[in-house]
Amino acid sequence: MKTRVDIAVIGSGAAGIVAAVCAARAGCSTLILDSRSAPGGTGGFSGITTLCGLYDDAGKILNDGFGREFAQAVAESAPVKMGKVFVLPYRPEKFRSLAEEFISTTPNLRAQFNTPLADVVVHGGRITRLNGFEVGAVIDCTGTAEVARAIGAETFATDETTQASAVIFTLCKVWKSLTTPADMAQVLLPLARAGFPSLNLQASLEPQTFTAKFAGLAEQVPQLIAFLRANVRGFEQCETSLDKIITAHRAGRMIVGQYVLTGEDVLAGRKFPDAVARCAWPIEQWDANGAVRFRYLSPGTHYEIPARSLRAAQVENLFIAGKTLSADVDAIASARVMGCCLATGAAAGNLVADYLKSSPLR
Ligand SMILES: Cc1cc2nc3c(=O)[nH]c(=O)nc-3n(C[C@H](O)[C@H](O)[C@H](O)COP(=O)(O)OP(=O)(O)OC[C@H]3O[C@@H](n4cnc5c(N)ncnc54)[C@H](O)[C@@H]3O)c2cc1C
Repeated sequence: MKTRVDIAVIGSGAAGIVAAVCAARAGCSTLILDSRSAPGGTGGFSGITTLCGLYDDAGKILNDGFGREFAQAVAESAPVKMGKVFVLPYRPEKFRSLAEEFISTTPNLRAQFNTPLADVVVHGGRITRLNGFEVGAVIDCTGTAEVARAIGAETFATDETTQASAVIFTLCKVWKSLTTPADMAQVLLPLARAGFPSLNLQASLEPQTFTAKFAGLAEQVPQLIAFLRANVRGFEQCETSLDKIITAHRAGRMIVGQYVLTGEDVLAGRKFPDAVARCAWPIEQWDANGAVRFRYLSPGTHYEIPARSLRAAQVENLFIAGKTLSADVDAIASARVMGCCLATGAAAGNLVADYLKSSPLR
């Protein structure tokens, strides 16, 4: 069996899938590894149903390339305006099946699942081996900087007080429209008065169905549903599948790259000479009570992500994409959304292919 690959992509969420396909399409032999049994990451396994960060505030798509191709393939409808932003509705099961399809049909790309990162070897300031493969370069798409941590490269953590976890589940059989703030208040006020942590409800693709993001514990969901059934008109028959309640973690860990994107860069709509991706998503912070605060860019603007934020500062052949991006705690609160992860994944896949073509050590 061949044990040498040009590029190893660790993590097969939004960023990893796109990074691996782009690297392989650029002609590099590519391996994608994930500790899960299948590709998809947070976008495929957390019950989330909207791709954020793909568009500017006029609904114009911000990035071309395979990230855009993947988003168009997974889309269930045209983009939808929610407040000041546009999002793209999708189904997680389609996200997972498309990920499998792209990974299994792209030439030069092989995958190993149920395979946690292991045995990372650094020699001469470069990663030379992992999981028994000799590698030319590595892209860390784990969301938690696992490659960098394995070799002691510098990382920093998200501020968990502004990137709190949420319990996500699907609430069905809701016979009530929730289109106006007044509709929503009729649901949320009784819950708040009864002392429940905050609940966020977003209409799903199925009729009478909502995606719920709950700031409490998974164990509290049955109690929450019992309360809604007993106390809120239209929710008398509401229900969820208890085995599909997921706790999803917004917080992650970022790698210190050659440039650390800042919250100021985001809000100022900063541009860079080595820009490789664009984003216009606001800085989105969630506290432990489920309260969300958005800080928006000026109307009509977007910020850019430089190639230097996709390259580790200390390890020559370590590249970065997705939630592991070299960004401070404010900037990642914008750049962690999936539209941006797809864009940085594509950029990292292309960058690493260019790097290897010009590297004498390939
Ligand atoms: C509650 C919540 C709600 C959200 N809502 C939205 C939303 O509505 N829209 C939106 O666009 N974004 C949303 N996001 C953000 C978005 O989902 C994530 O930030 C994004 O999906 C991260 O993608 P990624 O590819 O960087 O990482 P992930 O999708 O987290 O993928 C990382 C992959 O790496 C693998 N991995 C980790 N460690 C190892 C290891 N040691 N070895 C091998 N593999 C490993 C994991 O198994 C995983 O498959 C939400 C996030 C949360 C938590």
